[in-house]
Amino acid sequence: MDTFLIRVEAETHDHFFMKKKRIVIKIGTNLITTEDCSLDTKFLSNLVEQIATLVKKGFSITIVTSGAVACGRKIIPLKKETKFIPYRQVLASVGQSVLMHHYLSLFGKYGITVAQVLLTNFDFQQRETFLNTKNILHRLLSLCVIPIVNENDVTSYEGIELGDNDNLASRLASMIDADTLIILSDVDGFFTDNPKKNPLAKLIPRVEKITQEIEKMAQTVSSKTSRGGMLSKLKSAEYAVTAGIDSYIVPGKKKDVLIEILEKERHVGTFFPAQTSRKDSRKKWMQAQIVKNAFLEIDEGAIHALCHRGASLLPSGIRKVAGKFKRGDVIEIRAIDGDLIGFGLVNYDSKNVSKIQGKRTEEIEQLLGTFFDPEVIHRDNLLIVKN
Ligand code: GLU
Repeated sequence: MDTFLIRVEAETHDHFFMKKKRIVIKIGTNLITTEDCSLDTKFLSNLVEQIATLVKKGFSITIVTSGAVACGRKIIPLKKETKFIPYRQVLASVGQSVLMHHYLSLFGKYGITVAQVLLTNFDFQQRETFLNTKNILHRLLSLCVIPIVNENDVTSYEGIELGDNDNLASRLASMIDADTLIILSDVDGFFTDNPKKNPLAKLIPRVEKITQEIEKMAQTVSSKTSRGGMLSKLKSAEYAVTAGIDSYIVPGKKKDVLIEILEKERHVGTFFPAQTSRKDSRKKWMQAQIVKNAFLEIDEGAIHALCHRGASLLPSGIRKVAGKFKRGDVIEIRAIDGDLIGFGLVNYDSKNVSKIQGKRTEEIEQLLGTFFDPEVIHRDNLLIVKN
């Protein structure tokens, strides 16, 4: 099949996929490995079984998993106390493939394809790599592939690293416009105090707002294996709810925990309701990023397709390219009379959009000598503001 057909097929999947609920599930080292740094395959296969059921029910799942460093430690038995970054990098590079091997074979039993995605802080900070990452994740999900994400510990270094996977999970959830973030924990949820030390600590079933008082309750329980504690889970939930994403901290080992929450819609652990709508949060984010004096003017047909059919912006509907912008920038989309239609992250720079404006998608490769994307702005990266 040629590349164009593959893209068209992905687009067809996309229409189906648009109705699916997007979920990010974060799995920490404490859960996935045992004390001796072996992978807890019983736990993992049970989790994979639940995820496979949810995929069949129409959920779109992304996994953020730790465990690479722990798996590496099993092979290169450096002391657990050895926390020097180069050792972590060595352990992660050895262990990551072991970790992936298990996901690959467990999901393989259900005929589900997985993809390894290793990210760094730069992928969230720089516009072009942000767009590249966002686009590839959307394409994987549209093809019903489960992205298995971890920090790229091998290239991350102190000061530039994401730090812990709780942080990675919430930023990723926001990047892919997830509906729900589920952080699997080795405790039953968010407590008034550290439940491992204080038997009187009480589980809080719902945290309406993350206040200073709530923050004080989060004890940073440091662990020999994992990096984040309850405070980093709370920070992750805070980031997500501010971005309009419902979040949970739940006991990862509770039987059918994911099925209970997502399919049966039962209460488990601690729920943090989204503080705003996804749309309002995306709008705020896009407005803050917008490149001044740069916009695309589009025709009536394109306006209709964007506003009423949930379509992407293709080169054929573009009538004018104003100002200078780079791939990954956020720019305005306007009607010919100047009316604001929306904003979006653009797949091509202004020079290249000028070359392909008014042309058919099939002509992009010939006109530019390269083919990044069939759309100028993909609908997942678009925000329509016109009513
Ligand atoms: N990326 C690390 C690993 O895979 C884990 C980071 C964390 O514990 O949050 O081992």
